[in-house]
Amino acid sequence: MKNYPRQSKDITALIRPQVRKLAAYHVDETKVRIKLDAMENPFPLPPAMRSEIAAAVKNSFINLYPDPSAKELKKAIASFWKMKPEQMILGNGSDELIQAIILAFGGPVLVPTPTFAMYDITAQALAQEVVTVPLNAAFELDADLMIKKAKTSKAKVIFLACPNNPTGNRFSDAAIKRILDKANAAVVIDEAYYSFSGKSYLSLLKSYPNMIILRTLSKIGFAGLRVGALVASPGIVQELNKIRLPYNINSLSQTVAGCALKHREILNQQISLLISERKKLYNELSNLAGVTVYPSETNFIMIRTLADASAIHKELKQKGILIKNLNKPGPLKNCLRVTIGTPEENKEFLMTLNRILATQ
Ligand code: PMP
Repeated sequence: MKNYPRQSKDITALIRPQVRKLAAYHVDETKVRIKLDAMENPFPLPPAMRSEIAAAVKNSFINLYPDPSAKELKKAIASFWKMKPEQMILGNGSDELIQAIILAFGGPVLVPTPTFAMYDITAQALAQEVVTVPLNAAFELDADLMIKKAKTSKAKVIFLACPNNPTGNRFSDAAIKRILDKANAAVVIDEAYYSFSGKSYLSLLKSYPNMIILRTLSKIGFAGLRVGALVASPGIVQELNKIRLPYNINSLSQTVAGCALKHREILNQQISLLISERKKLYNELSNLAGVTVYPSETNFIMIRTLADASAIHKELKQKGILIKNLNKPGPLKNCLRVTIGTPEENKEFLMTLNRILATQ
């Protein structure tokens, strides 16, 4: 028998080419004073709620596997968002549900651009073709072009983030309904920012068996728990459940999220405050020379600067304020995205941005 050669080859060459050519989803891990880059809720939970959570955690059995279908948490989320638990699947963040959808349906995956990067990254990682359709200058959907591209490419899934990330706007109802009506594909309406827009397509689920709704707890205060929810027709839910990893929601996330969702009034208060802060920041940013502000129905605002956005981003970071730099050639040239923080954080961001702009 021939000796197996000592490893001299680059073993990463065996990794699928689609994976090797991918760029990882970039997360800036710089430690900063004011973190406004990732659409997190900036408010910590009130002490009484934290004590209640601590007591619940104390009583959990982490030596055992969690409830595989997260029944109690599903019920809590269903009651929080008025959903039917039997039509739901929970994911380790909605990111995991995006992956499950693409795994189940395969590609081509049709997305408008610019939109949330993980649709494209996940499709590529799973070796599925991605077909893109540009949004117009106001970042609105071109429904006819989407439908045409869906037909010619034989797309299996269409992702529509509504409101959209990173632009912040909600696509028109008419465009979404036309796509739901005409495209022979699963249409995923990603409502990650639903709480800040108040507008949902959930009630259309019974009329459109090809529709899948995604939500997440990440933006309303629980990004650290990694809990996302999917709602769809029973047929889709049954198929997706076959590929969902067992025990995908860990016990601590199940316990803590279940406990936190009982405090609807506290969460709603925080959301209302963030919405009013968004309106305030929008008006203040609109008054700055050299800045175009885009309307937002989310917990972030996108702006475009006349001066070099990357330089502004860098200076803000040097001063301890991290926002997201979207600047690259194309529709997001000189664009930046700022998450709505606490009133103090927003004030300091605005003041610092103002100072930086004055020196450009
Ligand atoms: N969808 C959209 C539109 C998003 O912006 C994000 C987060 N940036 C997600 C899904 C993923 O959220 P999570 O995995 O935290 O639930």
